[in-house]
Amino acid sequence: MALISPESLDRVKQAVDIVEVISAHTDLRRAGARYTGLCPFHDERTPSFSVDAQEKLYHCFGCGVGGDAIKFVEEKDGLGFAEAVELLADRYGVELEREQEDPRAEARRQQRRRLEQLLERVAAYYASYLWESPEAGKAREYLAERGLGEEALRGFGVGYAPSAWDKILVRGQQAGFSVAELHGVGLVQRGREGKEYDRFRSRIMFPIRDRRGRTLGFGGRAMRSDQGAKYVNTAETDFFHKSQLLYGVDKAKAAIAKATRAVVVEGYTDVLALHQAGVEEAVAVMGTAITGEQVAALSGMVEEVVLALDADSAGQEAMLRAQRVAAGRKMRLRVVAMPAGEDPAEMVAAEGGAERFRALVDAAVELNAFQVGLVLDRTDVASPTERDRALTEVAPILAAMGETASRDDLVRRVAERLDLEPAMVMGRVVSAQPLSGGAEPKPSPASGKSDAKLALTARPELTSRERRERALLAMCIALPQEGKDYLDRLTDAHLSPTGLRAATWLREHPGDPASNLPQDDELTGLVTELVMLSHDEPASRESMELNFLLLEQRRIEDEIAAAGERDDYERRAALSRERATLVERIARTQRVET
Ligand SMILES: [Zn+2]
Repeated sequence: MALISPESLDRVKQAVDIVEVISAHTDLRRAGARYTGLCPFHDERTPSFSVDAQEKLYHCFGCGVGGDAIKFVEEKDGLGFAEAVELLADRYGVELEREQEDPRAEARRQQRRRLEQLLERVAAYYASYLWESPEAGKAREYLAERGLGEEALRGFGVGYAPSAWDKILVRGQQAGFSVAELHGVGLVQRGREGKEYDRFRSRIMFPIRDRRGRTLGFGGRAMRSDQGAKYVNTAETDFFHKSQLLYGVDKAKAAIAKATRAVVVEGYTDVLALHQAGVEEAVAVMGTAITGEQVAALSGMVEEVVLALDADSAGQEAMLRAQRVAAGRKMRLRVVAMPAGEDPAEMVAAEGGAERFRALVDAAVELNAFQVGLVLDRTDVASPTERDRALTEVAPILAAMGETASRDDLVRRVAERLDLEPAMVMGRVVSAQPLSGGAEPKPSPASGKSDAKLALTARPELTSRERRERALLAMCIALPQEGKDYLDRLTDAHLSPTGLRAATWLREHPGDPASNLPQDDELTGLVTELVMLSHDEPASRESMELNFLLLEQRRIEDEIAAAGERDDYERRAALSRERATLVERIARTQRVET
């Protein structure tokens, strides 16, 4: 793997403006030395989310999450570590150096970059062809008739593929790319006689980009009636995996993060029309169903995915898989009931259409309720075999929902409609196999990570012992010299398990506990909290001693209780004397401190 050198990683960390990075997701206000705002990771009304611009850290005192700018981008954009670093390096103009690279991996990376450049150049060629060539006149007319303005078309890089058989083949080779490379990115294909020719001809071209705006492939819409398929996509290549991509996500991601919901439509022009009408959280799938991979890609950014798709015809299995992935990530999938024969692009092109569309989105129903409704609607309840079939069909849908109140509601609805006991319906749900072969899509390094990362609830109140250990550990950061002493003396008898791990971390990273954060989320949350607290709490040798003695008292009390349980009266008496001495010391220290 291409390793980012520690030096350039440091340069990225230096260069980022964490306040700016986070401000894209929540409004931050200055409050003393820090910035605060509503937590983008859990639902709250009063701000408990803090950003320390100096330390370049964030921490939520409500739900306990924390990290640096890289971690934030990983979480919010659903990226892997390296990708998050690359994105920030790009944004803040840091050149990344890589080291110890396996030469073959290096060659693959360079080859990939070359192919990315090829796709960019071809996209630019198609775009200029749309605006400049007489041949594309009809395409321009068609797009204008659909109400799509030049600004939106240019923003999405829409283009036109010439009618000639070899434009890309010839120009690509002239630009130094081999036929194999052109083939590899799906731009040319081989004919029956073994001759290569352009895959896309006489088509309106929609570049399909990833989240970072890199073109990975194209969707092409036919402009002549004799062209066979109305839509042709890039063939599946190493680059282009249709089931993982969402058209328009590069343009929509900011709006999606802000609205914490995505609106998923079917067509490229739907996305363009919606963005043009101000519904900027719209993206498109390339098919009629949303896939589990696409849901996973959205997780971390959204709490809700609203489908304005042809849900009647969408593959049931695909939808169920998507639903299970969504349920595992605490996301809701809802369905918009689009009026028959009208697509989103047509709707928003009409007067007041954007408002109508928004109202439909707001009124969307839960996907599972929608699907159960479809099954019930086409069931003849008078026939026992029909009722049995309906039960068999709805059971996996209900099973995919997990144990939720809305599932109980649906179970009751099904029971009533089919005239069965709810317990019997429930029995079928419990035994329903969650789909044959319906394993969760393998988490890719990028998307799988964000699983369960979206902390939706505040953490429980801290105990007084936890508050004390946090105060002491924070002071160990503020006064590292004295801190070392205490860190050596603290044991698992004084600290909570996480507190102990944080103490170990501080001991192993003296002076700079947050410059490289731990891999572990819980530990990172605590370390960021401690670093922030270390700036707030007035630290002194005396208050450290006092906190330590109080933890020591808790330790002795735990031991006294344990000795009592063992009926070890001798040990208990010794410990009680120890406690008496300790209490005296605590009283003396408190006098000094106050
Ligand atoms: Zn939070």
